[in-house]
Amino acid sequence: MKCPCSSGKNYGECCQVYIDNTAQPATAEQLMRSRYTAFSLTKVDYLMKTHHTSTRPLKDKKNIKEWMESVQWMGLTILNKEQGLEADSKGMVEFKALYMEAGQLETIHEKSLFRKERGMWYYVSGQHF
Ligand SMILES: [Zn+2]
Repeated sequence: MKCPCSSGKNYGECCQVYIDNTAQPATAEQLMRSRYTAFSLTKVDYLMKTHHTSTRPLKDKKNIKEWMESVQWMGLTILNKEQGLEADSKGMVEFKALYMEAGQLETIHEKSLFRKERGMWYYVSGQHF
């Protein structure tokens, strides 16, 4: 199957290696794409693991899972990015994600902040538009 993150690559050659924990995302964009894919495939544990501990919504885990199961993800567009490369320790990725909820097409437009600690990229927070 094609990877849900809209990269055009097959899932096995794209986000699967991160979600199955056989490789670490080298860039903030890779982490962001793999988190979108995890939303699409309801991989809640991966979303929790890649969420920075300072902002990790553990208490909402059940609600997040129920919401993820109720929506259908339609595509991802990366609009902008700053830093977030292999040599960086922080990064920003701005994206639009489309999903269907209760028959309505909805859009998330977000600037996400990422931080790298001990070689691992984490999602820290997002600003919505
Ligand atoms: Zn992907």
